[in-house]
Amino acid sequence: AHGIVIAGAGQAGFQTAASLRGGGYTGPITLLGDEPGLPYQRPPLSKAYLEHGADDRLVLRKPHFFAKHGIGIEADCRIDAIDRSRQAVMLADGRRITYDHLVLALGARNRGLSIAGTDLGRVIELRTLAHARHIREQLAAAHRVVIIGGGFIGLEFATAAHKRGCATTIVEAGDRLMARAVCDTISAHYLAAHRQAGVDVRLGAKVSHIIGNAEGRAAGVALADGQTLDADLVLIATGVVPNSELAAAAGLSADNGILVDEILLTGDPAVSAVGDCAAFVHRASGKRIRLESVQNAADQAKYVAARILGSAQPYDTVAWFWSDQYGGKLQIAGLTAGADEQVAHRSINGKGLIVDCFCGSTYLGTESVDAPAEHIAARKLLGLQPPVDKRTITEFEHDLRALAG
Ligand code: FAD
Repeated sequence: AHGIVIAGAGQAGFQTAASLRGGGYTGPITLLGDEPGLPYQRPPLSKAYLEHGADDRLVLRKPHFFAKHGIGIEADCRIDAIDRSRQAVMLADGRRITYDHLVLALGARNRGLSIAGTDLGRVIELRTLAHARHIREQLAAAHRVVIIGGGFIGLEFATAAHKRGCATTIVEAGDRLMARAVCDTISAHYLAAHRQAGVDVRLGAKVSHIIGNAEGRAAGVALADGQTLDADLVLIATGVVPNSELAAAAGLSADNGILVDEILLTGDPAVSAVGDCAAFVHRASGKRIRLESVQNAADQAKYVAARILGSAQPYDTVAWFWSDQYGGKLQIAGLTAGADEQVAHRSINGKGLIVDCFCGSTYLGTESVDAPAEHIAARKLLGLQPPVDKRTITEFEHDLRALAG
């Protein structure tokens, strides 16, 4: 037997290995990742890590965990190809490792921007610990930061950069912040919060190119309308693309992610895909989606481990997410995109902002700021069978805590 090979040692890859052993799998487990070091969590990289820089708090488990549980982990180990007919992965160093089952947990990479100047010095991106270390060094000497992209990572980085005393500008092409993930009310809340803190937020602003100085470093950002913004550090935070090329080259279907069925299998019964790289069918809505969150990576990994160990249930979990930035702690329960009605209200203590999102009579979920109890209640309600509907929530006057009671 060749056991389970896990391609990618990020959040989902690590969790697959841990849950397989935790669930009683006794065969070999091989966890292969191309980054240096042990699996770590990414969320702090755009938050606390930028302030305190404590690397040791990032690792998901200390080295002895892997030895103790017999998880063969290899860092700096790039997989170049998958040979499905022989059930093997080919490594960049020439080795082949055979599998009984392969779990693709390859994550995503930054999309980048195809404009002039992205190769200049002091133009940065953020996805990995290596990026975050580099950014910490650069931030120490920076005075004026321009961030291209008003999504979660851009906004979290803006918070950290501004707190460190940098004049900080966010350039967002769309007409609101985090438009892909949150409703107008929440976008407006964070726009006001960032501006109030002193961050210069430009909406509807398209970037033309990055301006370089004589030393080949970024000196500013030119906008399409002719304005220029001075900068000695430029972060490009324009979203990610899934790492699906390996799967596609091996003949597996991919379309904005590696396509998997309701039990997270690809078209090959010996290959599953989980986390940021996987495009799966969301059970409640029937839509094919790809999520970029710790919850999704961890839950899909746990699910695939349980399925390998014999569980037959389809994958079905409640999605949730968080972000920390100026304006407070954002939490999202459920998948709220596509809402046709949003009901905004205050938490019982008056401090939190809560937006319940509906589509027709269906309750999609709740976006909230500084309302952790309501967030937990929303997650509980979304997990109920049959699901709670709009009429019930209205009858309870949107008191999710009482309803979840
Ligand atoms: P990854 O963690 O990306 O792991 C995939 C691994 O596979 C990587 O190490 C990659 O290098 C490796 N790999 C790729 N190709 C190969 C190959 N050919 N051979 C070997 N290895 C390969 N989510 C939240 O829910 N809340 C947050 O607040 C939050 N904040 C974030 C902040 C930052 C700065 C970032 C970058 C992400 C954040 N996320 C957050 C998203 C979350 O971290 C991801 O959704 C999660 O890491 C996905 O896990 P994954 O295992 O699918 O992918």
